[in-house]
Amino acid sequence: MLRSTIASVLASLLVVPLLPATAPAAPLTAEAPRVPVAVGAGGVVSSVDPDASQIGIDVLRRGGNAVDAAVAVAAALGVTDPFSAGIGGGGFLVHYDARTRKVSTVDGRETAPTAATEGLFLENGAPIPFSQAVTSGLSVGVPGTPRTWEHALRRWGTWSLDQAVRPAEDLARRGFTVDATFHRQVSENAARFADFTSSRALYLPDGTPPAVGSTFRNPDLADTYRALREDGTSAFYGGDVARDLVDAVRRPPVVPGATRTVRPGAMTLADLAGYTAPEREPTRARYRGLDVFGMAPPSSGGTTVGEALNILETTDLSRETEVQYLHRFLEASRLSFADRNRWAGDPAFSDVPTRELLSQRFADSRACLISPTTAMAGAVAPGDPRHPAPCATNGEPTATPYEGTDTTHLTVADRWGNVVAYTLTIEQEGGSGIVVPGRGFLLNNELTDFSFTPVTPGVPDPNLPGPGKRPRSSMSPTIVLDHGRPVLALGSPGGASIITTVLHVLTRRLDRGLPLVEAIAAPRASQRNATNTQAETSFLATPEAEALRALGHRFSSTSEIGAVTAVERLPDGRWRAAAETTRRGGGAARVVRPIP
Ligand code: GLU
Repeated sequence: MLRSTIASVLASLLVVPLLPATAPAAPLTAEAPRVPVAVGAGGVVSSVDPDASQIGIDVLRRGGNAVDAAVAVAAALGVTDPFSAGIGGGGFLVHYDARTRKVSTVDGRETAPTAATEGLFLENGAPIPFSQAVTSGLSVGVPGTPRTWEHALRRWGTWSLDQAVRPAEDLARRGFTVDATFHRQVSENAARFADFTSSRALYLPDGTPPAVGSTFRNPDLADTYRALREDGTSAFYGGDVARDLVDAVRRPPVVPGATRTVRPGAMTLADLAGYTAPEREPTRARYRGLDVFGMAPPSSGGTTVGEALNILETTDLSRETEVQYLHRFLEASRLSFADRNRWAGDPAFSDVPTRELLSQRFADSRACLISPTTAMAGAVAPGDPRHPAPCATNGEPTATPYEGTDTTHLTVADRWGNVVAYTLTIEQEGGSGIVVPGRGFLLNNELTDFSFTPVTPGVPDPNLPGPGKRPRSSMSPTIVLDHGRPVLALGSPGGASIITTVLHVLTRRLDRGLPLVEAIAAPRASQRNATNTQAETSFLATPEAEALRALGHRFSSTSEIGAVTAVERLPDGRWRAAAETTRRGGGAARVVRPIP
């Protein structure tokens, strides 16, 4: 992990060469700097990976807009960060159009095959072990990422898919330098990858993970990208790639003699051909005079971040002590998660009360449950957003089921002021563990985001599997506007903790006045309607953690929560890109023209 001062960051950006249109022989950047902040003009990019951010900056330099750059960065992340995201997965893209001042979103969530039923993960009436569902064809949803790119480029881009995917194809062919994160991710997945012929060949070529500092190439993925460039997404949702994909789902390429139980899935060519990435109305929460736009269901991100903000708005957080701020942040998270778990799911399958969840009246009825002196004990029951009554709760507490924690988020703004916040994933780190043979990409295991059985017996669960259904997500790509102009955009990986991470950074920046990079670096805690609040060890080491315990909060500890990337517009018109200082090895903030 490299940490740089702002001065050295800016100095390094001044000497970054333009990316050539055709592939040179050497890896792109042997030692591309990981830097958490960059300020300037001409466009900004923030992602977890230096090669990917650099590709985005190059697109912006060559006249591409934020959408062109976002697709190029996402395609590059499919090369350098393939265990978090790629064309075998899905995601949600939020777009701000500087000309119309309108925020739009694309839902690129994976779908269950049409053969899926509510009992997708049941055998003899009982749920199959989660650990087995994770590594299976059964959990693979129809990927949404290629269609998302196509849709966004057609709608708002100026580059073709051919142009936008080209730099990533070159990167996959030429190779890049393996860093500690890539090495760790292969090591953590080595037992799974070793059980599939295709995954073993790609990621464990000598039986061990690629060494840090070595060059990693993925010519199969480069060829798949070339097919996408030349023939558009029909080369993915139909034709040979589709056949190989469906085959890998229905007959996972298990190594002969492997003892792992790998259940097949029922995806068909018709499921792939029928996939669409629809636009959805963004969620919108008014927060202290600003408009916070997010992703509507099937993601629970927009409604849950929005409800929590509305709850927090009942107090002036800028005037609270640090302990009271954190206490309220945790309690608002707890309450909004209770409601998320009860009400959010694929809107095509249940009547999700999106508007009501975001009403201030409902938030007020929930905020009234917060006591300044005592934390709520454990999980709380949801409210009824259609009939908000002060302090009323509705039925049984609703727990938050497990979700994977590895995804990636990228944020881009261009010289015209267009902004993209885009979170994409293959669910678990390494997805299903299955590389499509000969195609160079991992399949997702997104369907494990469904509830296998109702989370609370007897309480309707909007997130049970169904035919063609999209599992509930927590991804929260977010864009904040002030009178129609962007001020901040951000997002994070982290499964259900994405929501609390985005809420934390928003309030740290907007209410507590922290500089963006400090708001991102601040120690994190995540309360998701459970007895214990998950907290980073750095959070538990603060004096506030002790004071929160005295209020009744209980904690479990974890090393890291999330990996935020963000951009913000400064009052003088410059932009700042910001990323993690240390989490996941540090992020890569870049600007086209540094202006300190
Ligand atoms: N599958 C999760 C979701 O859609 C994301 C997983 C992650 O962040 O790693 O919410």
